[in-house]
Amino acid sequence: MPQKYKHKSTEQIQENSSSFLLGFFVNYLRPSAYVTSIQEIDLDLLKKQGIKLIICDLDNTLVPHFTKFPTKKAKDFVDKVKEKEFNFILVSNNTSKRVSFFAEKLNLKNYISNAKKPFPKEIKKTIEKIGVKPQETVIIGDMLITDILVANFIHTESILVQPLIDPEKTMNKILLFVEKFIFKKLTKDNLIVKSEIIKKTIYNEDYEIL
Ligand SMILES: [Mg+2]
Repeated sequence: MPQKYKHKSTEQIQENSSSFLLGFFVNYLRPSAYVTSIQEIDLDLLKKQGIKLIICDLDNTLVPHFTKFPTKKAKDFVDKVKEKEFNFILVSNNTSKRVSFFAEKLNLKNYISNAKKPFPKEIKKTIEKIGVKPQETVIIGDMLITDILVANFIHTESILVQPLIDPEKTMNKILLFVEKFIFKKLTKDNLIVKSEIIKKTIYNEDYEIL
């Protein structure tokens, strides 16, 4: 049984937070769902929730950072996504050389390299080109300050996954500190709870996203 997604009401949050920063965390850095790995994502459930396009981060989400070839797990996930007839886009801030190699090996037509997440321009352009609405799109990734932030900028749904290998080995120390700090804060305030269920329209109901 998936754990019920709990979140506090706006009043409770405002009561506990006098800081502008917490408001920012809530609005922009909170994922719609949080799972241990992409294998845990229930694609049928995503379909039922109206998702048509999956945008998936490459490094430490689909494959471990520094991995040179797609893993079996990555290939199985992509095959399942295709079988269920989702649109799928591989996205990464990494180089065109690396991303196009993985796209080719996984038989993916669409990919975005040098995506410059969390800046929304590239991803937004691609969503518009495909012709789906942001609320029919989910961005899956392992980092709050890139993957989840860009999702909330564009108003898509988002799923945070645990990084495949220890981020201590992949991220610079300052980014890692910020990422850990935000994660801890969201967890502490019960704003991030493990769940495969996408808590839809959280921002429309309770929080305002600019
Ligand atoms: Mg990543």
